[in-house]
Amino acid sequence: MKTSHIKVKSLDEIDILRKAGKILASIIKELKGSLTAGMTTKDIDAQAEILIRKHGVKAAFKGYRNFPASACVSVNEAVVHGIPNQRIIRKGDIVSIEVGIIYQDYYSDTALTVAIDPINPQLQKLLEVTETALYKGIEQARAGNHLSDISFAVQSYAELHGFSIVRDFVGHGIGRQLHEDPEIPNYGPAHQGPILKEGMVLAIEPMVNLGKHRTKILNDGWTVVTEDGKPSAHFEHCILITSQEAEVLTR
Ligand code: MG
Repeated sequence: MKTSHIKVKSLDEIDILRKAGKILASIIKELKGSLTAGMTTKDIDAQAEILIRKHGVKAAFKGYRNFPASACVSVNEAVVHGIPNQRIIRKGDIVSIEVGIIYQDYYSDTALTVAIDPINPQLQKLLEVTETALYKGIEQARAGNHLSDISFAVQSYAELHGFSIVRDFVGHGIGRQLHEDPEIPNYGPAHQGPILKEGMVLAIEPMVNLGKHRTKILNDGWTVVTEDGKPSAHFEHCILITSQEAEVLTR
């Protein structure tokens, strides 16, 4: 993939993406705050829809390749793309939630994994390492670096702690489309691929497994689970490449 395929956003576009990110950050924060044991994953999606409407934006995922919901809700062994259903969340679970919105024709996308406390220390560690791995990637997301410097930083950090990185799903550019070039793997050697430039907007999203890295898709056609049935965590931010450290748009 050549650098030229990666869009460099104009100042006006950046302004919109910045606003979209701020709105989405408040939506996911409120959504996180509303989670309690006893809710179904469908309840979480309903709450996401209420918040999206309240903020006057559109749900990006609903109808995307026929995805039926506004939020992806992935519990424990589910990695990403969980279709909300009647599954009840319980104390001790970890719940990955991903929400995407459209604001003035531009997309924003974010994910986090929430602990339904109390959770066991191993799961707590998985959550901390996955979120920190995301920030290790963001640290490398600066003008002049190679794209895969992000990938390498994420993988090294997660594996240092004995966890594994999902290969089957990756981060992406984002803007007028939900998924733009480049694909951003969370693994691989450093110093490869395109050079990052100011004005690129990327969604970095490590998925980290407690067990092995392999995944499979359930019969609903969407929900991705770990092949070994062990838990998985997911954190995602949209970031803007600047001349200095990246600006996190969805915080
Ligand atoms: Mg994404």
